[in-house]
Parts: sequence; structure tokens; C-alpha cells
Amino acid sequence: MELDTDIRETARGFHCNLCNVNMPNKPSMDDHVKGRKHQKLSTVRATRKAQEEHSVFVSGFKESTSQADLADYFQKFGPVSEVIMDKDKGVYAIVEFNEKDSLQTVMSQIEHRMNGLKLRVKPREKKEFKLIPKKKPDYNNMQEISERLSSELCQTASVNEQMQKLVERLQLRDNEKKARSLLLQLLQEVFKEFFPESQIHLFGSSVNTFDIHSCDLDLFLDLENTKIFQARARSSSEQAGESMSDDARSEDSILSDIDLTTATPAEVLDLVAVILRKCVPGVHKVQVVGSARLPVVKFVHRELNLQGDITINNRLAVRNTRYLQLCSQMEARLRPLVYTIRFWARQKQLAGNPSGAGPLLNNYALTLLVIYFLQNCDPPVLPTVDQLKDMACEEEECVIEGWNCTFPSQPIAVPPCSNTQDTYTLLAAFFSFYANFDFASSVISLRQGCPLPITAFLSRSGTPSPVPMEWTKPSQERPPPHSHGPKLGPLNLPDPFELSHNVAGNVTERAQKSFQKECQEAEKYCRSLQYQRKSTKGKVWGVLRLLTPPGDGPRKTSAADKKELVIGIPFKAAQLPETVRCQLHSAGDGFRLLWFQSVCSAVEELFRNILKCSPGSATESPMKQDQGPKSETAMDTADAVFKTPSKSAADNNEAGLDRASSSSETSPQVPAAVGAKRPLCSESSDASMSPQEKRQRLDSSPRSSSQSWTWVQRHKVWAGRRKVRRELLKGVVDVGPEGSSPQLETQVTEHIVKTEPEEKEPLEFRVQAQVLGGTESTKTVVKFRTTNDRAGLFQDFFHFLEVFLPKMVDTLLERPVS
Ligand code: ATP
Ligand code: MG
Repeated sequence: MELDTDIRETARGFHCNLCNVNMPNKPSMDDHVKGRKHQKLSTVRATRKAQEEHSVFVSGFKESTSQADLADYFQKFGPVSEVIMDKDKGVYAIVEFNEKDSLQTVMSQIEHRMNGLKLRVKPREKKEFKLIPKKKPDYNNMQEISERLSSELCQTASVNEQMQKLVERLQLRDNEKKARSLLLQLLQEVFKEFFPESQIHLFGSSVNTFDIHSCDLDLFLDLENTKIFQARARSSSEQAGESMSDDARSEDSILSDIDLTTATPAEVLDLVAVILRKCVPGVHKVQVVGSARLPVVKFVHRELNLQGDITINNRLAVRNTRYLQLCSQMEARLRPLVYTIRFWARQKQLAGNPSGAGPLLNNYALTLLVIYFLQNCDPPVLPTVDQLKDMACEEEECVIEGWNCTFPSQPIAVPPCSNTQDTYTLLAAFFSFYANFDFASSVISLRQGCPLPITAFLSRSGTPSPVPMEWTKPSQERPPPHSHGPKLGPLNLPDPFELSHNVAGNVTERAQKSFQKECQEAEKYCRSLQYQRKSTKGKVWGVLRLLTPPGDGPRKTSAADKKELVIGIPFKAAQLPETVRCQLHSAGDGFRLLWFQSVCSAVEELFRNILKCSPGSATESPMKQDQGPKSETAMDTADAVFKTPSKSAADNNEAGLDRASSSSETSPQVPAAVGAKRPLCSESSDASMSPQEKRQRLDSSPRSSSQSWTWVQRHKVWAGRRKVRRELLKGVVDVGPEGSSPQLETQVTEHIVKTEPEEKEPLEFRVQAQVLGGTESTKTVVKFRTTNDRAGLFQDFFHFLEVFLPKMVDTLLERPVS
């Protein structure tokens, strides 16, 4: 049966060759076979097959021959159902008969002649029916390109060559560049008509030397001279006693509608959009995005299939584009590195936000990360931005919007670097560099070429945090207009010129973590022979393995698939109250532990007071006596900072429970405090360890700290909370979202405890909190393990905690200090 040949079994289920789809199991395969798509394609295939068997391929006739002439001639062999001529008429035709037998009659005749010419007649070729997928949108062309690239890259002799080939294949071809420049010329002419003396500048990847086939056209419409023109026109018309000069008043002058010095960017861009729509042929999908950080008009050029962006206030971007060009000119290894890393990031879904905004890195940020890495090689491959500034001559001095953007205009001004590493070695080193980078506590400074401690941005007053001292005294005449530092986030990468702007400010914690995880994977791979040596068996090798999209590689099992009972609480400096940030700042390197201790206080408050858990039995710690006081010191400092209610502390002491965090592991980083009280209930995470094990752990992880508790819960306090909350809130307005009020959440629990029956088998579970930092983002991970869950309650409780705990801890940490 046909079905048997269409469907084949695979390691992951079934595959339908006809429709080119995978199915995980038999029921879905059965559904697919009965489904519309499969049925329709089967019918189309059957029709095609029948057509093939009923028709002949004819060529050699005169150019003027019509379908009717052919039908006439072939009628004598049997009824003709259709004659299909090829598009460029006269070259060939397909003659289809009603009956299969007619075909044999035609073929049995040795020679066919029409209008004195000998016809070539043969049976139609039997082509395998193949589903031709619909044309995919542009971004998928990269996928096609990468597929075509694969075999080519496999053949090259070295990884360096592979990287070079990647550049050659991805970069814009000359005809594409030409088309772009013609469009630019056209736009320039049109805009000059409406905005006299205006200028259009290209920036971004079309000109920064990192261009690829699908890259957009970034344009800056410079209206400075138009403003002067307009002011001049107005004053001369006033002098002449008219309200406006002829030039500026003429009917088709758009300038008569707007005063460029007072109009908002969005107003100007509205006009730009009108001009684009009405006056530039081939342009469509024009859209003003006034809400962007830099308002922009987006458009598409239909014939060139090109997306364009026009901004009107983007001198800094033109300058940073020039900086990227200079880096490329100074260092030939930069282009292959950036192309490979951009492509890798794209394939791994780490960069390239659809439609501009999004949680991922953008290509500009990614390129800056490559440059920063090259500044940090030993010896450095690229100089820092400050060093470049010092290499520039007086005429090259450039200040834009108060920011010092000085660097030499020619690469010749920069001494050659002494680093001679191969490009492929640098690529591996890039992955290794960011696999181990401490994103949590560093601000990546391309100006200084080194990480600046995040604590430098946490201090003092004002939101967002201030620019550090070294940035506020650049050798520029005017100070920067913005005295604040970049918006802090999981990845802190200030622009090398506009220092108050974090170019990775949109990157979410998840995206930052994926980036680091993929760097770690790549680092591991780059250590293998498969990376360094060409496969003699034609296997994927070198950079190719790095460029496979996730999911294309061997399926990961176990660890990745297993769901661990872990909840993460990331360090979010920006959300903390100002006084807390100051405290953290003064703790210097110890800020992490101080923050962690405060998180522990909050976690404890949550279980004890808000969720009404009671301390479990397995809590006595052998470390109680000797370890307790040190952690109290840290804890009390933290309590003071984060205002953990002292009631909890008292309660816990009453309960006779002990904190036994491995404080000796971290005490050097913790600022001392006097008069510490033993605070909340907890037990040592080391309780079950032998003294020797403890010593080993202390030695091996001197920068980590952990703390654990055992809790008992006798009520399903996670169930029906929303309903109780609604009841309690009747008539109350604006109390904020769930998890934003400790008081309310406490009341909700109390209500449940009072009204719901106690569980026969109480749930007992162990909670271990641990701070991770160093090579990962600073965060607290809270791990859960049940010690008694005979009633099978924990899974639901954990689902609830996954959302509730991080929200509640945030709320507790954000509380202003009184
Ligand atoms: P591609 O278009 O191929 O993704 P690109 O470098 O052109 O790469 P765009 O996002 O189009 O990236 O940005 C165009 C230019 O705008 C950049 O080259 C850079 O000069 C500037 N730019 C982009 N994002 C930022 C940012 N976050 N901060 C400062 N300048 C930026
Ligand atoms: Mg671009």
C-alpha cells in the first residue's frame, strides 16, 4: 500500500516522506494520515501520476504552432484532453490524452511531422512527486544559505578557512551593494526636495563591515542644515515683511507645515513617512514607531525585498558605526570572528530580536562583546576606546551630545598588535572567556577594556545609578549631559561612547544565561579534535558543529530532561531601595553574601510567617555552637539592611532552632557587626556531613554559602488562595498584584489554616538555599527535598512556590528601610 512507502519509522517516532513531517507516536501518525494535508497531497500525487501516464512530451515544432494545431495533429491517435505549451512558447509542449492506450499508439509511429518539421515525441519523464514548500520569509533564507554552506565548509582545509568562507558567503554581493546605494541616492534626492539641504547617512551593518544578505538598511536623516535653512528663510521673510519666504511657503514645501526646531521627533517622522509613502517608488509597509528609544520610520522596499529604518537623531550611531569600521580595518581577524559569532548566536537563538525589540542580544551588542574580548586577550588584539582616544590627533576630536567619541580616523594611527593567535584559536578563546565571565558583578567597559565592579554603580543617590568617577571626567570640554550610569540588568554593556546607555539593557536573565550556557557548550566542543581537525570521513567538523541550531544535534537526555526541584532568585540590584544599595556598595566584594543572607531572611519569613510552616524535627546542627555567631553577624547586618522583622528572630530563638550556614566559608567577605542576636530558625546544610567532608567543602568552595531548614506544613495553604484573596479584598481597591503584600498573603494563609481541615499526614520538607556567583550570575538557588510526603502533597506545593516564592522574596527585599 502507498501509505507504507510514505511513512517510515524513525528513532523519534514516524516521518511522512510525502508531507515531510515528523510524528512522535502512532496515534499522531494515524491522525496525520487521515488529515487534510496528507489526503490532499495523496490526491494531487495520484492525479499527477495519471497525467504522466497519459501524456507525451513534444518538441521540434515551429515557433508559430498553437495549442490547437498540436491538438489537431495528435487527435488522430486518440482523444486529446489538454495541450500545455511551455511559457516561452514554441520550445516544447505536453500533450495529454484521455486514454492511456493512445500513448502507445503515438509511440508506435516511427516519425511525426508537422508543417514540414520533424517532431521529437517521447513519453513524459516520471518525476518523483515532491512537496515544494511555500516560499519562506526572508530570515529563513539564512537557513537555506547555511544548508548550502554546510557541504562547502566541510570541504575546506582548516577552521580559519571555514571562517573566511563564511564571511565570503554571507556578506553582501556587489550587486546588492549597488542596489542599496541606488536606493540611498533616490531617497537622498526625494528628501532634498522636501527638506532642503538635508543629508542621509548610512550606518549599521550595511556599512560597518559586518553586512549580511538579509541585513536592514539603517538610515539617519540629518536635518541640521535644513533647520538652519528654515531659520534663515523665516528671518529673511520677516525682514521683507512677509510671513514666510517663497521657498519655505511654496505649496509643495513640507517645511511650511512644521517648525523643525520645535517639532518632536515623532512629528518630523510622520512627515518622513508621508514622503516615503507618496514619493518613493517601490516603498511600502511604512510605519512610524514613535515609542522606541530612538523614534524610527520603518519601511520595506518591495523589489529589493529590503527592510529600512530612518531615524532623525542618530549621530552617535553613525559614529559607533565608524568605530566598528575602524576596528575591522585595524584587525583583519575581527570580521571572520564577528561573522562566525553572529551566525552562531543566530542559530542558537541568542541574538537577533524579531522586529528589533526583544529579550535577546542585538548584533551591535554582540559585536561589542567580541571587541571587548579582543581587548582582553593576552597580548591584546585591540586597544581600548580610551587608548584610541589618546592616539587621535586634535582635528579628530569628536564630541557628540556631550559624549567623547574621539578616535583616529585612519588605522595607520594605531600601532599593530603583537598578538599572533590564529582566528580559530581566538574563536575558542571567545567562548571560554564568556563561559567563565562573571556577568553578575561586572560592568563591561570597552572604554577601559576591563570589567568595572557593579558595586561602583550601586552607590550614592539618584536612579538610575551614577556614572563612575572615571567616566565623569573625560577629556572633553563639555561634561556628558547624563550624569547617570547605564540601566543595570543581567548583562551590563555600556555603549563605548554613550556611557549612560546599556546596549544589552533589554537582555533578560534567561537570555543572558542561555548565552553563557551556549558559550560553555562551545568551549567544551572547541577543546575536541572534531573542532580542530578536518574529518576524513566527511563528518561535520570545525565551526560547522557550532552552527547547528538547537535540537539538530544529538538529543540530550537525563539531566536536561529531569526536572529538579529548584527555584532561582536572581540578584536584581536595580530594584533594591536606595539605602540598601548603599549598604551593598559599602560591603564591597562582600555584597553578594550580604545580599544572600537577606534573601535567606526573606525565605525564612515566607515559610514561617506568611505560609505558617512550623520548624521540622531534623534541625539540630552539630555546627550550632561554633558556627552560629558568625552567621548571626552577617544576618543581623542583613536584617538591618533589609528590615527583616525582628519578631521572626525572637520567635526562632524561642523555637530553639539554629542557623548553621557554612558561615566560615564566607566570613572574610562579610562585614562585621556588633551585638548580633541569634536570628531565625534554620539548620546547617552540613548537618549530615562528617567533619572531614565539611573541611573539604570549605576548602573547595570558599566563595559559596548555603543555609537550610526543615519545615512542616499541616494545611494545603497553596490551594484556593486566589479565592480567599478575592474574598478578603472585597471592597478594597488597588492592593497590587498577588505576592506584593506580605500582610495580605499572611491573612490568606491564616484564613486557610482556620477554615480548612488539617492534613492527616503533614508534609515535611527540607529547603536548602545557596548563593552562586563567580562564573554565573549572582543568584540564590533554593532546592527542595521532601522528608515526609506520604500524602503526596509536595508536587502541588512546589508548583505554587515556583511562582510565589520569587515574587514574595522580591517584595520582602524591596521593602523600604524605615
Ligand atoms: P543587523 O541589522 O545586521 O542586525 P546592525 O549592526 O545594523 O546589524 P541594527 O540593530 O540594525 O544592527 O542597528 C544599527 C546600528 O544602530 C548599529 O550598528 C549601531 O550603530 C546602532 N545601534 C543598534 N543598537 C544599538 C544600541 N542598543 N545602542 C547603541 N547603538 C545601537
Ligand atoms: Mg541594521
